[in-house]
Amino acid sequence: MSYQSILDQIHEEIAPTLPQGRIADYIPQLACVDERKFGMAICDVDGGYASVGDADERFSIQSISKVFTLTQAMRTADAQLWRRVGREPSGTAFNSLVQLEFENGIPRNPFINAGALVVTDIVLSHLGDAKAALREFARRLSGASDIDYDLRVADSEARLGYRNAALAYFLKSFGNLENHPDQVLDAYFHHCALSMSCAELARSFMYLARHGINSDGAVISSSQAKAINSLMLTSGTYDAVGAFAYSVGLPAKSGVGGGIVAVMPGQFSLCVWSPGLDGRGNSMAGSLALERFAALSGQSIF
Ligand code: GLN
Repeated sequence: MSYQSILDQIHEEIAPTLPQGRIADYIPQLACVDERKFGMAICDVDGGYASVGDADERFSIQSISKVFTLTQAMRTADAQLWRRVGREPSGTAFNSLVQLEFENGIPRNPFINAGALVVTDIVLSHLGDAKAALREFARRLSGASDIDYDLRVADSEARLGYRNAALAYFLKSFGNLENHPDQVLDAYFHHCALSMSCAELARSFMYLARHGINSDGAVISSSQAKAINSLMLTSGTYDAVGAFAYSVGLPAKSGVGGGIVAVMPGQFSLCVWSPGLDGRGNSMAGSLALERFAALSGQSIF
């Protein structure tokens, strides 16, 4: 079965069930999206491409941006990073505060919000303008020079981002932020508000399918690419990561905008988008689509 016919079949199965789940409304601007949207795109290492539905429509990538900022931090400060952030699954919600106090301000992993705030702090210290740096990086990886932040989303999150502010100030109290928490939060909210389509995300994540290399050279080393894929498998979908590995069996990263990117090292990068979320903040139809993709294609790292 070709990737195109697999995506067509998944679309046919899922379309009548939409909308599924609940759109994230704790960031009010995210709730303005049509909850019936559904798109998928896949790129493979031989240059193949297939897509379906709303694959070319841009959406708020939210926590998917954490893979890009982690990649940037690993490129510039790999050793320092792992003294300040752990590599274990958290078993708690992505925006949880409880673990942080018990564990002395060292977040469990770079994909929960606390971990991403530390990663953002590292990027700020090393690259200066973290907002420009991430936008440039996403443009280069995707080949789309007009990728940009949705400033309404960034502003909407900043105005009500009390929980993230609490995390940032708490991290600062433990000495695990170098920059002012407000500066870190501003960069973090913008990073989450980057707008990209499934097609652009699938293309951008190809360096993780190609052992660190993309079409214009090395992004990171092959061992760093392996490390990021491992972290996505163990922490990329938060406290649903066990069920996700069980049913899909691919490293993946989700965001509360409803996007999920999954990678099969050596084979392909796949992105799905549908805005309705389950209780853990992962796209409900998107998770189902990935589960169906793994079943129909027989592709999994296991
Ligand atoms: N911007 C969101 C937040 O910080 C990102 C969360 C997510 O996508 N899981 O709450």
